[in-house]
Amino acid sequence: MNSIYLDYAAATPLDDDVLSCMLPYLKDKFHNPSAVYLSSKSVKQDLEAAREKTAKILGVRPREIIFTAGATEANNLAISGLLTNFPKGKILISAIEHSSVVEPAKKYNHELIPVDNNGYIDLEFLAKQLKDDSVILVSVIYANNEIGTVQHLKKVRQLIDQALLSRKNRGVLHPIYFHSDAAQAPNYLPIQAKKLGLDLMSLNGGKIYGPKQTGVLFVDSKVKLSPIILGGGQEFGIRSGTENVAGFIGFSEALSKTAKIREEESERIKNLKTYFVEELNNKFPNIIITSPENGLYNIVHIQIPGVDNERLMMELDEKGIMCAVGSACSASSDEPSHVLKAIGLKNTEAQSSLRFSMGRQTKKEDIKKVIKTLSDILA
Ligand code: PLP
Repeated sequence: MNSIYLDYAAATPLDDDVLSCMLPYLKDKFHNPSAVYLSSKSVKQDLEAAREKTAKILGVRPREIIFTAGATEANNLAISGLLTNFPKGKILISAIEHSSVVEPAKKYNHELIPVDNNGYIDLEFLAKQLKDDSVILVSVIYANNEIGTVQHLKKVRQLIDQALLSRKNRGVLHPIYFHSDAAQAPNYLPIQAKKLGLDLMSLNGGKIYGPKQTGVLFVDSKVKLSPIILGGGQEFGIRSGTENVAGFIGFSEALSKTAKIREEESERIKNLKTYFVEELNNKFPNIIITSPENGLYNIVHIQIPGVDNERLMMELDEKGIMCAVGSACSASSDEPSHVLKAIGLKNTEAQSSLRFSMGRQTKKEDIKKVIKTLSDILA
């Protein structure tokens, strides 16, 4: 049985070119980049080349790139690294953040920015909250991993700039920084951090056909972070530990490749999504599409009233189709996800929802098979 994988928002397969770039650093070029002999210096140079390549794609300076072990660490570093320096500061986060933003934010004075039924943040609420001079950080997820909402980051930037101007006019010098968890974005959206108006941005290799446990935190040079991992002082003293050279080189190649094919692949996936949604609407009048119309091209989140999502997911799995239950926000939780609650879904609605997320290997034939299989199961 040929299986159909539709959970690319959870994990993407490693790209062959990325693997080829990584292999030398797992074998012959294994040297510690901090050592002083020539072989190590060569590895260090290659690592710095990967940093430069990453920085160029993100439109930032190499010194502003901190390599991390994924987006969870990058999000923790952004929040705890900043709030350690401003312990009385307040963080505003959207109500549909990934748990790796929600959990560190809970350690500090924080407020949730509510969202509408499509997951878009309430900009008026944000503008009011920004009048509070204790706000030091705003964190808004660029593209949501469950329903695919893409936020208007530039509008958030405008509101922050207005608040900063008001502070300046009143002689308040306390900064406000803007962070976004952009883990789901690079395959389909512009990713130049400064053009998006960001001071901090988290990325994840495991979502861009690169290796898992690799990622980046972009930190604008004006932002002073404290490290959350202490030790040998690697990554400009912000993230200690011997560098995952193969992983970071793989990350930079994965980011480069996804940027190169973004336009073409976006068009292809956008067409597949249109087809998928049309077929769902035509064949299953009771199915509700949760994903907003202008959301991430690869995510189709649906509710099937009266159907138990876990049972349906397992039936699909038995027939070779892999997708995700929309209600699972973490591997261990039975509670409906905070994202679905935030957009106003009742528990029963959340428990009847599924997420299909497409990717580079997804073909129209796969979507046809999903529709046919759903018809068979739901008949
Ligand atoms: N942020 C978003 C939006 C994600 O989708 C994920 C992964 O599911 C993460 C952060 C965390 O990534 P990781 O667990 O690989 O660090």
